[in-house]
Formats: sequence, C-alpha cells, structure tokens
Amino acid sequence: MLVDTPVSRLLVDWYDVHARTLPWRTPPGAKVRPDPYRVWLSEIMLQQTTVAAVGPYFAKFKGRWPTVEALAAADEAELMAAWAGLGYYARARNLIACAREVARLGGFPATEDGLRALPGIGAYTAAAIAAIAFGERAVVVDANVERVVSRLFAISEPLPGSRPRIRALADTITPDARAGDFAQAMMDLGSAVCTPRNPRCDACPLTSACTAYAQGNPEAYPVKPAKKAKPRRRGIAYWLESEGAVLLVRRPDKGMLGGMRALPGGEWGDPPEAAPPVPATWRHVGTVEHVFTHFALSLDVMAADIPARPVEGEWWPVAAIEEAGLPTLYARAAALGRASSEMLAL
Ligand code: SF4
Repeated sequence: MLVDTPVSRLLVDWYDVHARTLPWRTPPGAKVRPDPYRVWLSEIMLQQTTVAAVGPYFAKFKGRWPTVEALAAADEAELMAAWAGLGYYARARNLIACAREVARLGGFPATEDGLRALPGIGAYTAAAIAAIAFGERAVVVDANVERVVSRLFAISEPLPGSRPRIRALADTITPDARAGDFAQAMMDLGSAVCTPRNPRCDACPLTSACTAYAQGNPEAYPVKPAKKAKPRRRGIAYWLESEGAVLLVRRPDKGMLGGMRALPGGEWGDPPEAAPPVPATWRHVGTVEHVFTHFALSLDVMAADIPARPVEGEWWPVAAIEEAGLPTLYARAAALGRASSEMLAL
C-alpha cells in the first residue's frame, strides 16, 4: 500500500494548482514521467544558478544535443563553449563524462544508488532524479528543503549540525506516492513561498502543520551557526606628504592585496612591524577597521608632512589620489591622512 502523509497531501494538492511550468518538467500527476536526460541536465545546470539563468542554456543544449547519446558524442571544446557563462566548469567536464557513462550503460540507472555512482552526481541530484524521473521514493534535501523542514519542525539546533535531523524529519513527510511531484512541490514552495526572507505564509498550504508559523517566527529558522570571532591583527599605514604628493608603494606580489598600490607600512601582526619611511613628527590620525575572510585588521594611520622629498619612490599627486587604484583598505586610510593634512593647512 502506498503511504502519504498529511504534509505531503497538502503540498501535492497545492502543487496540482501552482506548479511552475518548466521545460524539463511534465505537468503534475502526468501519467508519463519526464525524460531522465532532461531532469539530469536541468539539475546539473541548476546547481548554484537560478531557473531564469538556466532556461536559455537548457534550450541550447536540448537543441544541439537532444539525447544523452548525442551529448556523449559531443566535441568537448564545443560543449565547454556552450556552457560558458554558467560557471563552475568542473560541472561541464563531469557532464560529458556522465553522458558517456550513461551511453555505455545503455540509459540512466533508475535507482538512487545507481545514479549516485555516476560522475558529477551527488546525493541531492541522485535523489532528485530518482524521484522525478523514475518515481522512486527518495528523500530529496537541498537548501530550500532544509529551510522548509527547519521551519515546519522549528528545529532549534543550528546548521550544519542539524542536517541529520533535517534529513530524518524530511523522511517522515516524504510520501510513497507521487514522489517526484512531492520533491518538485518542495522545490517550488521553497523558492516562491517559504523564502529565506519574508516567507509568504499567507500563501502557504502548510500553515496548519508549521511550528515556526505557529510560533510567529519563521525567519528564525534554519538557525545559523554562531559566527566565530576572527583573529585580529594590527597594522600601520604611513601617509607621508610632500610638495602636494604622497608616497605610495607596491605590496609584495604574494600575500594579501598582492601587487597592489598601498601606503607604506610593514607586516601586519600583533604588534605590527613598521618603521616609518623617514624620521618625522608623525601624528596618529585614525584607525581603519577592515575585515578580511580569515582575520580582522585594525590599521593605524600615521601622517606627516615634510618640505622636501627625502626618499625615492612613487610620489602620487594628492589631488588625484582616487585614481591611484588603492584597494578599499588603503583608500580609507588615505582619506584619513588627506583629511588630517587639509585640517592642518587651514
Ligand atoms: S507556514 Fe510559512 S514558515 Fe511555515 S512552511 Fe509555510 S511559508 Fe514556510
């Protein structure tokens, strides 16, 4: 006997009316399942990309290579050129490797395990193809489903630790019947109704089953992991002005902001190493706070004006400093140095 669940019934009923019409789909409840080639191609293209962006690429690929066998025989350079613009080129290389393997097997495997063994097909994609193209009951969990399930059950544990629980709970609401329509309904609900911000609960078929809705705080889920405090480094940047110009240097090619123009200053650390470029009466004119991917930097800006230029180097007109191509960090430091010099000149 096929089993459905209250949630799946509500959702599939909603899907019967609201399903998006997409070129790789068949209508809800259709007797004929969609072509696995179309489902696979769309799922690979949709990784990291939107439905709107994929549409023209899908049409181009289907026109040029209408079957998986045609794609298996494609010229690799031509395929890569057709993929250009979709990004993540490893996917395009896997696409052709997968097409060749499917052609060798004589067709797509009809099970989640068989699909998972193909090049470039991960757990989510295997489950999606198994459910949509073959009607197999498979627990399909992507970021949209994670969000919907986290809200339905108000899962308080933060991601990513909550993933096994999300999967287990997604399993409890996945029906045996119409597995493909259920998977696509979850996708549509996550993308159009149960959105990350401002979910449209008033248009959702699952309000009666949704704990986050009952609590009045859907956006609190999924709970994000606490951000780790980034290590902090300190640095010094010297604004040395002379005769209407400021001394700039090039940062070493390797390392942060490699090869870019900057104000002089030494290594960042705690404490920073940075002897001034010349002895002068240096004044502290401010601190720039900047966050890089792996650390936060507090850059103290020191300024001095000297009558003549005692050091060789690139002296850049202060009036044209915006054209020096300074990275944001040093542009902000330069703004502090320049403002301080202008104040002194008043
Ligand atoms: S009721 Fe709101 S929070 Fe709950 S599943 Fe629907 S859209 Fe998401």
